[in-house]
Amino acid sequence: EAAEDDALLTLMGWADAARDIDIRANADTPADAQTARNFNAQGIGLCRTEHMFFDPGRLTVMREMIFAETSSGRAAVLARLLPMQRNDFRELFRIMEGLPVCIRLFDPPLHEFLPTTTAGQRELSEALGLPVSDVTRRVEEMGEYNPMLGLRGVRLGVTVPEIYDMQARAIFEATLDASHDGDPVVPEIMIPLVSAKREVELVKTRIDAVAAAVKSERGVDFTYRLGVMVETPRAALRADEIAVHTAFMSFGTNDLTQMTYGLSRDDAGRFMSDYVQQGVFPEDPFHVLDVDGVGELLQLGAQRGRSAKPDITLSICGEHGGNPESIAFCRAAGFDYVSCSPFRVPVARLAAAQLAIADKTGQNVPTYLKR
Ligand code: PEP
Ligand code: MG
Repeated sequence: EAAEDDALLTLMGWADAARDIDIRANADTPADAQTARNFNAQGIGLCRTEHMFFDPGRLTVMREMIFAETSSGRAAVLARLLPMQRNDFRELFRIMEGLPVCIRLFDPPLHEFLPTTTAGQRELSEALGLPVSDVTRRVEEMGEYNPMLGLRGVRLGVTVPEIYDMQARAIFEATLDASHDGDPVVPEIMIPLVSAKREVELVKTRIDAVAAAVKSERGVDFTYRLGVMVETPRAALRADEIAVHTAFMSFGTNDLTQMTYGLSRDDAGRFMSDYVQQGVFPEDPFHVLDVDGVGELLQLGAQRGRSAKPDITLSICGEHGGNPESIAFCRAAGFDYVSCSPFRVPVARLAAAQLAIADKTGQNVPTYLKR
């Protein structure tokens, strides 16, 4: 068994030497980050920070935040959230040991944070000191018809900017504690669900202000990289003007597929097999990148982003990022890295190597490239 392990390590070493596209992992927890390291991921390409608030204790605090009606009420809750987030990020930076960590700002579909059960509403009413009937009424008022197309991502960041302020501060403070071998950690901060240049400007202005405040409090200098997720068709179409303000763009093909098809990613499973069977779609576009439609938006967005900023970093972080066919597509489009769930990293490393070798030798070309 030891010999087999050695052989596998040798093979993976060859693969890493051959490939010419980086492989990162999506990770939100220390356990995910550790798995990513074990599989030799070259960084975290997507940390979904909203997932850090799903455990019951924290969920109530985030709900208090969302239900606070005044800015002083929000500030009080955020003061409790800040140390939790700082700790979360410190842990990720510690485990990643100086490898890049791309932290996506809070991207809630709001319905995931509204208490719909009686028990949840009772707990929140106690935390807020409000009658349960008030909480129930507000949950009903805040409910959206299409939460996945509602007050999500940067839209919440623009309308309730204090949440992103808190997260930026937590990231910067964690960064300052996390230098590796004397090299400062340069955090990557990613804005979700952007569709307009102005959204980026508004968020950037506030994050720059937070950075300036932390620098003067700590008496130190640091830098950070700001980027966006391209996951609405409009962001791909306007990538040139959006790129002006960003160091990187990461394509979120889960939402981009949903929005390009106008097909709910949470409901498509109900009829997908019928659709594939009848040949409407060749494959489930949520599993295999739709190179003709969604792929064209990726190419176009990449091209327009690069035309405005030649050194912009391009990547994919939707589920497709771990799929060999998608990796081939992204590599051909000139992407710098793909990010996928940690357990798909080894296959992604091998797939990337196979592509590079096939290019050089004309041999072992994957069948899906010959289609
Ligand atoms: C995406 O939309 O592709 C993405 C990576 O973000 P999420 O799945 O969290 O919406
Ligand atoms: Mg998304």
